[in-house]
Amino acid sequence: MKLSSFGCLAVLPLSLSLTAAASAAVPNANAQAYATQSNPETLVLDARDAGRGLMTATMRIPVKPGPFTFVYPEWTPGEHGPTGPLSDLSQLKVSANGRALDWRRDQVDMYAFHVDVPQGVDTLDVEFTILVNSPDRMSTSNVAIINWNRTLFYQADANSHEVYFKPSIILPDGWGYGTALPAPNQVGQRVDFAEVPLNMLVDSPLDCGRYYKHIELWRKGGAYQMLDIFADKPQDLDIPDTLIASYKHLAPEAFALYGSRHWDVYHSLLELSDVIGFQGIEHHQSSDNRAPDDFMTNAQNQLSAGDLLTHEFSHSWNGKYRRPADLTTLNFQMPMQTDLLWVYEGMNQYLGDLLSFRTGIRAPGDYPEYLAALYAGLASEPGRNTEPLIDTTIAAPYLYQAIGSYPSIRRTAGDFYAEGELLWLDADTLIRERTRGRKSLDDFLHLYSAPAVTGPITKTYTREEIEQLLNQVAPYDWHAFFQKRVYEVAPTPPTDELARSGWRLVYTSEPNKFITTREALFHISDMWFSYGFLLGKDDLVADVREGSPAWVAGMAPGMKILAVENQAYTDGALKYIATQAEHSSGPTAFLVQQDSWYHTIEVSYHGGPQYPHLVRIRDQTDMLAKIMAPRAGR
Ligand SMILES: [Zn+2]
Repeated sequence: MKLSSFGCLAVLPLSLSLTAAASAAVPNANAQAYATQSNPETLVLDARDAGRGLMTATMRIPVKPGPFTFVYPEWTPGEHGPTGPLSDLSQLKVSANGRALDWRRDQVDMYAFHVDVPQGVDTLDVEFTILVNSPDRMSTSNVAIINWNRTLFYQADANSHEVYFKPSIILPDGWGYGTALPAPNQVGQRVDFAEVPLNMLVDSPLDCGRYYKHIELWRKGGAYQMLDIFADKPQDLDIPDTLIASYKHLAPEAFALYGSRHWDVYHSLLELSDVIGFQGIEHHQSSDNRAPDDFMTNAQNQLSAGDLLTHEFSHSWNGKYRRPADLTTLNFQMPMQTDLLWVYEGMNQYLGDLLSFRTGIRAPGDYPEYLAALYAGLASEPGRNTEPLIDTTIAAPYLYQAIGSYPSIRRTAGDFYAEGELLWLDADTLIRERTRGRKSLDDFLHLYSAPAVTGPITKTYTREEIEQLLNQVAPYDWHAFFQKRVYEVAPTPPTDELARSGWRLVYTSEPNKFITTREALFHISDMWFSYGFLLGKDDLVADVREGSPAWVAGMAPGMKILAVENQAYTDGALKYIATQAEHSSGPTAFLVQQDSWYHTIEVSYHGGPQYPHLVRIRDQTDMLAKIMAPRAGR
C-alpha cells in the first residue's frame, strides 16, 4: 500500500472487525472446497450502475445439503487490516432451485452468514447490492475501481488457493477496462474471464472507465507491462511523451535492481479522479493506483508523488513474491500479523523512491532535498521518545485507520514507511562502505528475489532470513542493527547514512523544494521547523510540534488561523511576517477561531522561516548520487 507522501494519510474504509471476541469461532482453512476448477463458483458483477454508486453481484456457489456458511472477505491483502467494507453490503438474497432461503448473520463474526441447504440442492444462488460509494468512493459517472473482495462471498474456512471462481463483469456502455485477469472474452458489454483461484481473483483488481488510454511500457517476447489509465476528465489523458518515456524505464530499472521477474504480464492500473482520492494497492501482476485528476499533466504531482506507480510495481517482488510468513494467510478471514511491515513497506518505501529517481520520473539530483525533508520530519516527532518503530508496525491495522489530531505524538502508519526508507538507506550505505563500493543493497535484493524468473508465487520470509541474506552480502551484526533501530525506542531516526553518503543536514530560510511543492498542491502552510505548526486544509492547524514556540503559546490542532499580525491569513502573508519577525523583539499575534470562540495567540519566535536541506561534506564521495543513478543501460 502507498500512503500519500504528504503526511496526511489516505483514509481507508472504517470497518474494524469485531471478530476478536473470545467466543468467536477461530477461522481456519481446512474445509474441503466445494467450488473447484471444474465446478467453480460463478460471479457476475453488473457494474452498469457504477455511476450512481451501485453494483450488483450474482453468485452461484457450489454447496452440499446441510448447514452451510459463506463469508465476506474481512482481511484485505495490501491494506494490511480487517478493512472488508461490511457496510457496503445490502439487499442480500439467497435462493436454491428458484426457492428463497432464509439466511442469518453470525452473532459474533459479522462477516459470516449461515444457511440451511435443503436436500437435493447442490448450488446456492446469492445476490447482493454493493454500495460502492460507501464509506469511500470507488466510482464516479466516468470511472470505477473493482476490488473483487468487495463483490463476493465464498465458502467459510476454505483455502483461498483451492476455491475457484469464474468471474464476469458487465460494463457501462462504451467503457474500457484493464485487469491482469486471464483470458478475457468480451461480447457486447459483458466480459468473461477464465477460472481462477480466489486468491488470484482478489489479487487482480479491474479498473474501467469512459475515458481511457492503454500504453505498452515494456515488452520482451510474450512478457509485457501495460499502463492502463482511466480518467474522470478526458483532458487528463493528454500526457507529455517525456513523462511516458520515463515510465518506460520502470521495468528495466526494476529488473536491474532485483535481477528477477515473477510475472509474465503486469498491468499498472491508474485511475485519475479528484473525487476518489489518493491510494495505491499492490498486487502480484497489477497495481491499483489512484491519483488526482492532473497527476500525469502537472509536473508538481510527479515531484511530490512520482513514486506511486514505482512503489506499487516494486511490491510485485517485495510484498507479493517475498512476503512475511506471519502476514501470509490461507484465506481472508484469518488475521494477519503486521510486525514485519518495516521490511514489506519500509524497504519498499526506499525502493519505490529509488526507482522514481533512477527512471528519471524525478530528477536524481533532487534526492538530497527529498531526504532532508523526510529526515527532519521524523527527527522532530515527539512520539518516537516512547514508542519504538516495531509498535507502529504491530499496530498497523489500527494506525492505518487512525486519523485526527497530533499524529506526531501518536506516531502514524506513515512512520514505518518514512523511517523504513532511512533504515534501508542506512543498510545500503553500510554495505557500500563495508565492501568499498563493490556491493550494495541491490546485491541483497538479487539474493532475496531469486530465482530469476517464476510465475506469480509467494515465498515467505522471517526476520532471521533477512539478517542472514544481508550477512551474505556484507558480514555485519545485522541483528543488533535492526534491534537498535526498529525494536527499541530510538529517540533519533537512523542518522549515520547522511554522513556516510557525504552529506549533512542544515536548516536555512531557503524553502525546501519538496515542502514548497506540497504547500502549493494542497494549499497548506508548513511552519513546522519555525513557529512549530502545520496548517492544513481550510486554514486549520493540523499539528503542533511539542515544545515549539507555537506549542508554548497554546496553539492546538483544529484552530483556524484567521489573521496574522491583524492581516488576513494567506500563506504569503504568514511567510512575510515570519521574515519580518527576525528583526523585531515582540511576539507574532495570531487571531484564531476555536469552535465558537476567538483567541489571540502570541508566539515568541524570531528565527524566520526554517527549512531542512542537505549540504555536501567536502572531499567525501557523494554516495546518494551513485545510489540514484540509472542502472539499466539506455
Ligand atoms: Zn506499499
